[in-house]
Amino acid sequence: MDKTIGLYIHIPFCKKKCAYCDFFSGASDISEREQYVRELQSKIKLWGETANEKISSVYFGGGTPSVLGTEPLCELLNSIKREFCLSENAEITLEVNPESGRSLDFDKLKQTGFNRLSIGLQSSNPTELKALGRIHTAGDAALTVERARHAGFDNLSLDLMLAIPYQTKASLKESVEFCAKLGVTHISSYLLKIEEGTRFYSLKESFPFPDDDEQAELYLYAVGLLEQLGYRQYEVSNFAKPSFESRHNTLYWKCGEYIGIGPSAHSFYHGRRFFYPRDTKQFYLGKTVDDGAGGGEDEFIMLALRLKPGLIFSEYRQKFGKPLSPAAMQKIKLFAKAGLAVLTDESASLTPKGFLVSNAIIAEIVSARVGQ
Ligand code: SF4
Repeated sequence: MDKTIGLYIHIPFCKKKCAYCDFFSGASDISEREQYVRELQSKIKLWGETANEKISSVYFGGGTPSVLGTEPLCELLNSIKREFCLSENAEITLEVNPESGRSLDFDKLKQTGFNRLSIGLQSSNPTELKALGRIHTAGDAALTVERARHAGFDNLSLDLMLAIPYQTKASLKESVEFCAKLGVTHISSYLLKIEEGTRFYSLKESFPFPDDDEQAELYLYAVGLLEQLGYRQYEVSNFAKPSFESRHNTLYWKCGEYIGIGPSAHSFYHGRRFFYPRDTKQFYLGKTVDDGAGGGEDEFIMLALRLKPGLIFSEYRQKFGKPLSPAAMQKIKLFAKAGLAVLTDESASLTPKGFLVSNAIIAEIVSARVGQ
């Protein structure tokens, strides 16, 4: 079978910086955006000349790609179609803000080839949205879903955030049910992380952030609710109706290769990991930073354990020519005994409780493997 890869396009523009956001993004004017689109097109051309692989998925993320508007987004996708060899059934995702129902031409986007939208709802509760510094309402998201669906988009994802200041189980239930009522096919449900350098970081002491126990409770509650409503968990923070799992993100977790274009975009290509620095000027100059070899045993274990099916032993053996070490297996047995993992003859996977402490679990399994 021909090798396929993913393609990520980073759009570093937003209308307003959210209080928790650590992504490389910010405000822009029209001339900056026009220049950025031109530079992206020239990089797309360069990469298209380098890469012979078929592209199985394209993801426009950010920032807020929808800030560019319909025409530039279609121009960019047309450049990709011209310069790369896109699989016939490629998944092509566009991240949009909930207000974009009023500004984007979804018919045009659909005709050009976008076939999946990811909408950053975060919450349907006005107090929580205000705390996050978001400028939309739940009604904006509903309108966007309605307009997109009318244009023929049947693969729609909503982002929800967990452990927002003021969030309770009752308000979380309302947000989850709001998404389910809209009939979307995919929900990403992330725990809020307070990153250094964000506005939330400076408010850490004065804002009512849920503590670790409350966070765990909200996460497990969300997992249960989403499952009840037909959204099957397939990754730590991702839930989908059957066969609507994100193919692009699954490629990352399966250690597949991809090219990322834009400041801060990471790539894993021809066995190397590298990235463009978080600096637009450096990106224009084409500077990339090497991040070493990728796809090794530890990385494979770490990424596989994010997925619900977990680490499939036959896949590991096939890739590395040997089974997982006895010491690592022994560790997994201990986690299974503690209810944090499930171990069968075919695979090892984490339970929702295990997902909550996945970093610590993975570190122990990996160090047991290395210690062998
Ligand atoms: S819209 Fe998204 S990328 Fe932009 S500031 Fe908010 S969280 Fe960050």
